[in-house]
Amino acid sequence: MDPRTAPPPDAYLGELIERFLPLRDGEISGPTETLEDGEAERFGIAMATVDGQVFSAGDDAKEFAIQSISKPFLYGLALDRLSRQEVHRKVSVEPTTEAFNSLTELEEDHLPYNPMINSGAIAISAMLHHADPQQADGWMMDMFGDYLGRPARLHPRATDSTATAHRNRAIAHLLRHFDVIGDDIDGAMRMYNRQCVVTADVRELAGMAATLANGGVHPRTGRRAIRREHVRDVLTLMFTCGMYDTSGNWAYTVGLPAKSGVGGGILAVVPGRMGLAVYSPRLDSHGHSVRGLAVLKDWSCEWDLGIFGGSGAAGEITAVGLDGDDAKDS
Ligand code: GLU
Repeated sequence: MDPRTAPPPDAYLGELIERFLPLRDGEISGPTETLEDGEAERFGIAMATVDGQVFSAGDDAKEFAIQSISKPFLYGLALDRLSRQEVHRKVSVEPTTEAFNSLTELEEDHLPYNPMINSGAIAISAMLHHADPQQADGWMMDMFGDYLGRPARLHPRATDSTATAHRNRAIAHLLRHFDVIGDDIDGAMRMYNRQCVVTADVRELAGMAATLANGGVHPRTGRRAIRREHVRDVLTLMFTCGMYDTSGNWAYTVGLPAKSGVGGGILAVVPGRMGLAVYSPRLDSHGHSVRGLAVLKDWSCEWDLGIFGGSGAAGEITAVGLDGDDAKDS
């Protein structure tokens, strides 16, 4: 889009809401306790720039559980508190073609593929908890507060699922079996589950992305949320692994580091410029917000935001069938 004729950001975001409001594909899934009646219909979009401006449209004040969007931020915390070497002795940096909650790859390779999937995030949670069982939760809440620009809080309807999240517990036990984590499985699971139910509204989510776009400093508060040298680690893994088993398709068509969560949020980072966020809880079979994918694909193409440029061309190719579900099903 020619910047001289482009609509102002507020008007553009409103246009995107209108364009994709009729899109009602997908299902609510994942942990539903934090989803309220009627939440499936919610739809909000926001953008936060590195110079502190925030634009939004739609349901922009509704707080929701960030779920797996927490994963890159916890990874950054582990890098800051421990070290690259220590973290990556236990968690690899490879994309995966398995689902986000798969146990298969662990069975085969005995190490989590990356910190953006459940096995990697549970291992990271265990490392942080093990480093200081008394302080780790405080580190985590403070870190989210720095990215949010206000004290972090947990979803009021979230219950402690430490003992009942059986699939994730199975992952934790496999991690224990392969000596990736220690004996305190409950401690690791509690930390993992709490990070998933931290809440944000879509404007705050865009601010979290803008903090990464801004080298780790929140654009409005000026507070540093992550050491500068670790921002590239987080963005690299968001780019290669953040959209789970559709990360390649995402990199090709949208071209931005991103992370989705089953609460319906997706955030994307335009390095040096801004953070983008969408909230709409109906999900595709990979656990991504259907409207979120559609919005960010058009937005990246129309504003040419992809980090390698030329996003418009990728949009044309998507139209003939390289899209997530199609590509997997064919
Ligand atoms: N709490 C979810 C789980 O552990 C997070 C998954 C997601 O958001 O993709 O399964």
